[in-house]
Amino acid sequence: MKASDSIRTVKNIGEARAKQFGNMGIETVDDLISYYPRDYEDRSVITPVSELEAGGTYTVKGRIMRAPEARRTRTLTVVSAVISDGTGSIVCVWFNQPYIKNQLALGIEYSFTGRVSERMGRLQFESPDYESANAVSLNTGRIVPVYRVPAKMSQKIIRGCIKDALDGVDGGFEEYMPRYVLDEHSLCSREFAVRNIHFPENDEAFFKARRRLVFDELLFLQLRLLELKGNICSKKSRVKINNFDISPVLSQLGFGLTNAQKKVLSEIISDFKKGCVMNRLIQGDVGSGKTALAMISAYIAAVNGYQAVLMAPTDVLANQHFKSFERLFSPFGIKCDILTSGLKKKEKDDAYRRISSGESKIIIGTHALIQDRVEYADLGLVITDEQHRFGVRQREKLSEKGDEPHVLVMTATPIPRTLALILYGDMDISVIDELPPGRQKIDTFAVDHSYYRRLYAFIKKEVAKGRQAYIICPMIEENDNAELRSVLSYTQELKNGILTGLRIACVHGRLKNDEKQDIMESFARGDIDVLISTTAIEVGINVPNASLMIVENAERFGLSALHQLRGRVGRGSDKSYCVLVSDSKTKLAKERLKIMCGTNDGFVISEKDLTLRGPGDFFGTRQHGLPEFKIANLYKDIDILGEVRSVAIDIYSGDKELKSVENSRLKSEIYEIFTSKIKKICL
Ligand code: ADP
Ligand code: MG
Repeated sequence: MKASDSIRTVKNIGEARAKQFGNMGIETVDDLISYYPRDYEDRSVITPVSELEAGGTYTVKGRIMRAPEARRTRTLTVVSAVISDGTGSIVCVWFNQPYIKNQLALGIEYSFTGRVSERMGRLQFESPDYESANAVSLNTGRIVPVYRVPAKMSQKIIRGCIKDALDGVDGGFEEYMPRYVLDEHSLCSREFAVRNIHFPENDEAFFKARRRLVFDELLFLQLRLLELKGNICSKKSRVKINNFDISPVLSQLGFGLTNAQKKVLSEIISDFKKGCVMNRLIQGDVGSGKTALAMISAYIAAVNGYQAVLMAPTDVLANQHFKSFERLFSPFGIKCDILTSGLKKKEKDDAYRRISSGESKIIIGTHALIQDRVEYADLGLVITDEQHRFGVRQREKLSEKGDEPHVLVMTATPIPRTLALILYGDMDISVIDELPPGRQKIDTFAVDHSYYRRLYAFIKKEVAKGRQAYIICPMIEENDNAELRSVLSYTQELKNGILTGLRIACVHGRLKNDEKQDIMESFARGDIDVLISTTAIEVGINVPNASLMIVENAERFGLSALHQLRGRVGRGSDKSYCVLVSDSKTKLAKERLKIMCGTNDGFVISEKDLTLRGPGDFFGTRQHGLPEFKIANLYKDIDILGEVRSVAIDIYSGDKELKSVENSRLKSEIYEIFTSKIKKICL
């Protein structure tokens, strides 16, 4: 029989059973074989009968000592048998399975797996699975697969049918993966993988098998994605970077790079060296130090005679970046400029002129950077910060301002990296997976309003230590007058009441940009103790002296937003705190706050966010239609996805149509999978 044959060709699958499988979506031998276990039970450890304890699940090898007998009660048929392994004996009971009486023979050795319970002071085995100790074991005495079982099916039936299918395929399972890929990535053969995913010989075999199957599944997807996006990094870059001497800028930074930053930097540099157009996403948790990488990359562009642009989502953030870039670059005589909508007309015109003449080498701004009016002299590098705040279209528009400049995109974690790999399938991805040294965990608490007194005392205590605090009040809509009034009166109340004597200011969306800017600057200088902000717009704000973040109505924020907010504190080496205030009693709200209190890891949080909301909701739409995987798990298999991506790129760029002899088998497999299995991938 062939893998593509109907399951009717499998031994012991008759019409009725085939129909049941049909209802599970299993029509062919191949479908059956790719019905992967949802879990495994390790039944390979044999326990002596004398060591059994009530409540545990065990595997025992024993002989039938007393012929099985069936007893009928009013409601049940109970089959019982006594087994012994020489260390002791135990009664086995099965309910409503009278046929078992005839399947177990006196004196024969079997292995049994099941739960041990205590009944009237005696241990008994409850409905254990059993198998002749001499037969090939499928259900006991080994690592046993556990499948999703619909009604009228049983684990035993599925295990048996899959085993028959595995053994019945003529010539086993042909290899389609090119040899060089198998070797390079230490992948086991397909034959090994398919067998061991169902009936692993041991843990190691299982991990090998799973790795191979996940690899295949993700590779098919990635190849397909590359084909779909059709724009691989094969474009030669016009931007010539020859000078890689970054020691001057490194010594100006004021800190040494973390290993993670160094790793990502070397990836960027190797992109520059390759001579292809760089198209790289940098993912790094809040506070991981993405800005420093933007600075170094911009420095490289500038010393090689090109302009670099950094686009940020808000005026406030653009201004903050501008200040730090200017501070860093002025000693080198590299001119920085800023372009935001908040500038006066004259300031803007001057900036346009300096940008188009090439006088400014580094230009920082907001959406204002992509307006038609702006012309760049020679754009070598474009960087977007907090990319998740921009659409893909805006990123493209920025690139189009130059002649295929290098592209660097930075984002914190609202997109789990796993999904980023898929959604940004056309980009290379670097991850800063380490925070600068000395960072402490931000202690996070979820409280309700009854804690207010203590909260204010806490603010006062931190301020007395010379630290600063944020209070975030969410507003559903920035132009909601009622909400704004309540925030303003709250601010007044604190000023005149419980926090009197502290320097308090409020920023909200209705302020003019320069008013906002002034407040943010005085907060950064330490002239304001408590900053009340109505919005979460101030992503990326960096005031390392702030040590306390209070979020009012925390239930109104998603997890990723809360994590971003919390990332405003804990940016120095001192202990910081985050207090999430919420009176909400809903389960989801509680769960979210609990997750926030439990971890500081943005990757964990965004993945939890994803599981709580589902990928569709996560992006606010259901349009992304992420494929459903049979075995790969986007949350767990990130490393494999990374490997697969490079293989996919190698294969695709070397042999776009998969025409070579080596790749041709792979191609028919992909074709098969994409025509029959993954029906819709829309990106
Ligand atoms: P984000 O990744 O959230 O954009 P930033 O780039 O704003 O983070 O960096 C957060 C803070 O960490 C800044 O104050 C920055 O100066 C500091 N920082 C960045 N890299 C390092 C490092 N390697 N060692 C010490 N401090 C660092
Ligand atoms: Mg940042």
